[in-house]
Amino acid sequence: MITGKTKLLGVIGHPVGHSLSPVMHNAAIAHLGLDYVYLPLPIAPQDLEVAIAGLAAVGVVGFSVTIPHKQAIMPLISEITPLAQAIGAVNTVSRKDNQWVGTNTDIIGFIDPLQTTYQQNWSQKIAVILGNGGAARAVVAGCHQLGFAEIHVVGRNIGRLKEFQQSWEHLPIAENLQVHTWDKLVQLIPQANLLVNTTPIGMYPQVDESPVSADEMVNLPTGAIAYDLIYIPQPTKFLRYAQQQGVIVIDGLEMLVQQGVAALKIWLQRDDIPVDVMRQALKKQLGLG
Ligand code: NAP
Repeated sequence: MITGKTKLLGVIGHPVGHSLSPVMHNAAIAHLGLDYVYLPLPIAPQDLEVAIAGLAAVGVVGFSVTIPHKQAIMPLISEITPLAQAIGAVNTVSRKDNQWVGTNTDIIGFIDPLQTTYQQNWSQKIAVILGNGGAARAVVAGCHQLGFAEIHVVGRNIGRLKEFQQSWEHLPIAENLQVHTWDKLVQLIPQANLLVNTTPIGMYPQVDESPVSADEMVNLPTGAIAYDLIYIPQPTKFLRYAQQQGVIVIDGLEMLVQQGVAALKIWLQRDDIPVDVMRQALKKQLGLG
C-alpha cells in the first residue's frame, strides 16, 4: 500500500513502457515488506536536466537509467564511480549527502554468472566479444576485472571499432584489448574460451538469426563458454548452436537480474536482496514459466 511515507525509486528512459525493471524491483520490495515503490518514469531527452532536479526535489532515493540517458546523464550528476567513468555510461543513480552519485551495475551483472557458477582462473583465458556498442563496454570492463589474458572485440564498422579502442587508451584495459572486423571471427573462434554476443542479432522477433553460423561454432574449443546477453528467446539460436557443441551456455536473464540486485543493494543499503524472487518475477513477465 502506498502511503505518505512511501519512499520512491524508479527508472528513467524514453520510452520506459517496455522496461522489465519495475516488475523485478517491486517483487523484491514486496517480498522484503518495505515501504518503497519503483516507478517507470518516462523522460524525454530535452527534459532530462529539469527531471533530475525534480527527482531530487521530491526526495527520490535512487533510480535506474536506461536508453537514451545512460551517457547524457553523466554531466548532470555530482559524482561518478571510476567503473562508470571507464565504461562511459551510468545505469544506477543514488543519493548521497544530498547529491546524485552515478555508477554502472552492468559489469557486476555480467560477471556474476561467470564468477558464481563457473569459477575459474581466467588469467590464461581469451575472451571474444561480438559487437562494440554500450553493452560491449560493460563486458570488456568485466572481462578485464576477471583478469582475462586477451580480450578481442569484433565489429562490423572499422571507424566505430577504432573509436571503441581509443576510448580505453588511457586505461590498463588497453593492454589486453584488440579490435577486429567481422572477417577475423573465423580465426578467433578456435581460441575463444569465452564467446560473448553483445549484438542484438537473434533477439526476438528475429529468432532465426545468429551472429555466428553453425559451421563457425563447430570450432569453439571444448570447455568454452558461450554467453548471449539477449534474454528472449531462451535459448537464442547462437546458444542453440553452442549447446550442440556441448559447451557451457549462459543467457542474458541472469545479467539482467544481477545488475538489478546490485542496484537494490546500493539503494536499500542491505545485502539480503531476494534474488530468486526477482528472477521468478522476470521469468513470469517474459512468459518463461
Ligand atoms: P548498442 O549500443 O546498440 O550496440 C549494439 C552493437 O551490436 C553495436 O556494436 C552494433 O554495431 C552491433 N550490431 C547491431 N546489429 C548488427 C548486425 N546486424 N551485425 C553486426 N553487428 C551488429 O546496444 P547495447 O545496448 O549494447 O545492447 C546490445 C544487446 O545486448 C541487446 O540485445 C540488449 O538487449 C542486450 N543487453 C542485455 C543486457 C542484460 O542485462 N542481459 C544488458 C544490456 C544489453 P555498430 O556499432 O556497427 O552499429
